[in-house]
Amino acid sequence: MLVLAPSFDPNPTGLPLNGLAARAMGAYLGLAVGDALGATVEFMTPAEIRERHGVHRNILGGGWLRLGKGQITDDTEMSLALGHSILAKGKVEPQAVAEAFSAWMRGKPVDIGHTVRRGIARYRQTGETAVPANAYDAGNGACMRCLPVALCTLGAGPDEVAAANRAQSHVTHHSPLGDAGTLTVILMVQTALRGGTLADLQTLAEALVVAEPEYRYDRRRAENPGGYLPETLSAVFQALFAHDGFETAMIDVVNRGGDADTTGAILGMIAGALWGLHAIPAHWLHALDPKVVRQCTEQAEGLIGLSPHRRGLQGHCVSLGDSSMPG
Ligand code: MN
Ligand code: MN
Repeated sequence: MLVLAPSFDPNPTGLPLNGLAARAMGAYLGLAVGDALGATVEFMTPAEIRERHGVHRNILGGGWLRLGKGQITDDTEMSLALGHSILAKGKVEPQAVAEAFSAWMRGKPVDIGHTVRRGIARYRQTGETAVPANAYDAGNGACMRCLPVALCTLGAGPDEVAAANRAQSHVTHHSPLGDAGTLTVILMVQTALRGGTLADLQTLAEALVVAEPEYRYDRRRAENPGGYLPETLSAVFQALFAHDGFETAMIDVVNRGGDADTTGAILGMIAGALWGLHAIPAHWLHALDPKVVRQCTEQAEGLIGLSPHRRGLQGHCVSLGDSSMPG
């Protein structure tokens, strides 16, 4: 295990590094690190990555987006926008989420997915906070930003967690298949935050496969995973369950290429929750923009602070006044 350099203080609050705070910060910084590491090789094949980098294991920037070293992309930025709206309202409120995404798009982000852009444009035109159900919306754009929901609904009842998932997802993505995959990622993060094991996470993945067989991940090796969520999660699950640490699992998933910043982001939030902040290599954390590190750690703490788990309450995080439910 790597020890953080003394100059690096991702935990200015002094909370214990082996408890819930460390896992929540690990999840948020795991997401950012996976996004930054994977973005360099996004849309490359494993063979192209090998030729160019050998094994890609350092945060270098570059890639098709010509990123600066340590720069993050829409996966982390949309998570921060969502988290900001939840912290401002004290709950997941579809209108506030849609406004936050719209403001983010106004800032001319370095990258934005087609389905995300279409959903935000529709909100601007109609004021509606949920797009109509569409089987083609099972892209990974809602899943890549789901972490703030996992944090703020920790300890809430299953219906409430599922409703919060739909509320944030349906602003841009609306399909039962996508909802099921994203909810499973949220439940994996929450299980890990509460001290669950890798085997517990595997049980959740198996339950998803039973409910939605498109998520089967035990066949051929997932390489060049695309933006379709079952493909994305196949690569994430295979890499996650094949390793016993954050670093090796992360290197495995991004070297599969394809939508590598997003597989890195999703694996990072789960693996960071499971193994905690101190399991993330210090050189990856150092490579991130310090402002992003601060936003991630502050949001992790704030969102956990809202959760029923932390507050010993039920039902205070999620707004169910629900224009997002399918009619
Ligand atoms: Mn991205
Ligand atoms: Mn991506």
